[in-house]
Amino acid sequence: AKDKGRNCYQFYHPKMGVLMEERADIEHALHQALARGELELHYQPKVDLNGGQIYGMEALLRWRRPDIGQVPPDRFIPLAEETGLIIPIGEWVLRTACAQLHAWHGGGFPHLTMAVNVSARQFRQMNMPDLVRAVLADSGVPAQCLELELTESLLMQNQELVVRDLKQLKEIGVTLSLDDFGTGYSSLSYLKQFPIDVVKIDQSFIRDVTDSVDGASLTKSIIAMAKSLNMTTIAEGVETQGQLGFLNTHRCDAIQGYYFSRPLAGSEMGMLLQAGTQL
Ligand code: C2E
Ligand code: CA
Ligand code: CA
Ligand code: CA
Repeated sequence: AKDKGRNCYQFYHPKMGVLMEERADIEHALHQALARGELELHYQPKVDLNGGQIYGMEALLRWRRPDIGQVPPDRFIPLAEETGLIIPIGEWVLRTACAQLHAWHGGGFPHLTMAVNVSARQFRQMNMPDLVRAVLADSGVPAQCLELELTESLLMQNQELVVRDLKQLKEIGVTLSLDDFGTGYSSLSYLKQFPIDVVKIDQSFIRDVTDSVDGASLTKSIIAMAKSLNMTTIAEGVETQGQLGFLNTHRCDAIQGYYFSRPLAGSEMGMLLQAGTQL
């Protein structure tokens, strides 16, 4: 897969030089980003719709290049996967998120959960069960407070190995969520063979719930089907009061999005927790 990614650039004839240069530049800089402390996690709260409290958060990776500024994760994570850098970066994300969570647990918020994103290629390249076991032990975070956000594409490939690793992760006791649900091709009934606890309804559906009949009915049926399979639901990218009202009416369990809060630096998230801010 690594070589395939590289060869792709051979076909971008006119722009090839530029793309290769940009790529080499980002790759070189990314190699040093970890050691130079340019990576940072931001945290976006997840809010329970039954009570309006923050119950947990999602860790989102940020890279600030000193010369250039913020590089969005969609730009550098694919490259990190192609180069194998996702292995040390992914471990750093998990360790940093768990260390932060442990500090908040000790600071008066003992029930908070932390969700970490794990891409399909990353899951294949790393031994997640071993890493998760080690990081939980080192950080002192209880397994039930750690959530892994996985994508449909991860579940679609190399079934046996994936199922084996997911089962091991469930034995460890972590929560497994399905990120961006609805953007892939799989139905929830196909997904019931995997030990998934939470369905994250993709923001493209949430954007539509108040202005299209289709968007509304799709979201309603995802919530209903997830419930029938004993999975809980969280809506992503909730931005408006109208979307919130819809999700309350149709008994979605939780929300995440700019309506409540953008992703925050650790110190800002700490202040939000201290303030006891509710929905
Ligand atoms: P994602 O996991 O689907 O994360 C949600 C994205 O939506 C985040 O973008 C978040 O900032 C953004 N978002 C949150 N609320 C709203 C809202 O109300 N409206 C809108 N329009 N957007 C909202 P971000 O931080 O740029 O991350 C993009 C993607 O990069 C993530 O999508 C995830 O797939 C990936 N990513 C981020 N951090 C990590 C990481 O540590 N490891 C891995 N493997 N992937 C990561
Ligand atoms: Ca996610
Ligand atoms: Ca998502
Ligand atoms: Ca996404």
